[in-house]
Amino acid sequence: MANKNASLNIFFFPFLAHGHMIPCVDMAMVFAAKGVRATIITTPLNAPTISKAIQKTQTHQTKEINIQTINFPSTTETGLPEGCEHVNALPSLALLQAFRNATRLLQEPFEQLLLHHHPNCVVADMFFPWATDSAAKFGIPRLVFHGMSFFSLGAYEVMRLYEPYKNTSLDSELFVLPNFPGEIKMTRLQVGSFFRKDDVEAKRFWEEIRESEVRSYGVVVNSFYELEKDYADQYVKEFGRRAWGIGPLSLCNKDKEQKRGKEDEHECLKWLDGKATGSVVYVCFGSMTKFSDSQFREIALGLEASGKEFMWVVGKREENEEEWVPEGFEERTKEKGVIIRGWAPQALILEHEAIGAFVTHCGWNSSLEGVVAGVPMITWPVGAEQFYNEKLVVEVLKIGVPVGARKWSNFVGDEDCCIKCDAVEKAVKRVLAEEEAERMRNRAKLLAQMAKRAVEEGGSSYSNLDTLVQELLSLSH
Ligand code: UDP
Repeated sequence: MANKNASLNIFFFPFLAHGHMIPCVDMAMVFAAKGVRATIITTPLNAPTISKAIQKTQTHQTKEINIQTINFPSTTETGLPEGCEHVNALPSLALLQAFRNATRLLQEPFEQLLLHHHPNCVVADMFFPWATDSAAKFGIPRLVFHGMSFFSLGAYEVMRLYEPYKNTSLDSELFVLPNFPGEIKMTRLQVGSFFRKDDVEAKRFWEEIRESEVRSYGVVVNSFYELEKDYADQYVKEFGRRAWGIGPLSLCNKDKEQKRGKEDEHECLKWLDGKATGSVVYVCFGSMTKFSDSQFREIALGLEASGKEFMWVVGKREENEEEWVPEGFEERTKEKGVIIRGWAPQALILEHEAIGAFVTHCGWNSSLEGVVAGVPMITWPVGAEQFYNEKLVVEVLKIGVPVGARKWSNFVGDEDCCIKCDAVEKAVKRVLAEEEAERMRNRAKLLAQMAKRAVEEGGSSYSNLDTLVQELLSLSH
């Protein structure tokens, strides 16, 4: 098997943001473990991060993964500040669209790579819709990687097809997602701006993404069939997509050492070692969310009032430190909590037995990592497709409670309606202490076992990956 697969050379081309690069590198690893030759395409400033992730996790069973770089367009071409080759390097999220536009200029150098290396398949991010045409020029099949759940992919399609939000008069009025399993209800406030007439550019971009997806060879999804059966079935049978659920991809980092390789040894893990099972709430809003100082103050007060132990990732906020920390907060809570200013080893933290709840923004990677770890969630969606993931976690999987976020706001949180400290306190107490929590925890643990089974030999994701590899092999002969 391994030898035959070695004739297959696949290019993986993730969008330049943590939430896209992390699962895509894991995916390259999953294919490489099958003996496939995997090459990750990125830009020079992103190569070291990817290279570090690969080197530390590469095992002797895994085929070597290569990195090929293409130059990011110059600042004169893009108007972006020097050195902004990654979404997280942008000084402001207002530059997000400019950044996406800049990545269009990667098409030409990407095609040069295809010309010289002629891989058997390209797995390119959804934010590179032009990649379907690039691959087609060379007769190469293109797979799309959205980094989203089947649930959200399907919900987007339903929103596009039936525009149910048009039947409501108020932004806060609930509507049902028609022809979508589970009677899912949302409001206009929660759906992304690209479904609304006012954001013409975003709407056009999403149309382009969809159109390139429909013309692509198919879609690889970081999920597993048992987690969202109805939605996976609908996506394939009703919406006609060729899709392979091959996740959870993060499970390719099988042991602690491999996972630790991705993030440096961290004091916080030692802190958790001293805590009782299921006693700590872990709070992290992914790599992009930028909450206001006042929202941060409310979170701090809510955590303190809950009386529970916490680990809170605040990222880099050093420029106005005193503005968001309530006076004396750190001194008062020094026995109870840890604040991480920077990058946390999230996958390891979540799997630590001390963690009893996860306050998450419902980015798909985080949500799935919560599932893999079997930890109930407090859902706090902010932007992107996070409000849909919240519905999946809370209403379908029933392993989370909402904190009460009401309005989609593209990564910055809802300024007009910031979540107050008592909502945070209530949600934390509910998930860590009440009877209902026990039921959620049991369900979460069950899903975690199912996730592990899915990627083992004979599991659904394992089999889907085999089928896909065989299909790509047959195309290449
Ligand atoms: N992450 C991490 N440490 C951090 C912040 C984020 O390891 O301090 C990882 C997290 O585990 C996940 C990814 O970054 O794999 C974030 O992806 P997600 O889809 O959850 O959210 P996004 O950052 O795209 O909003």
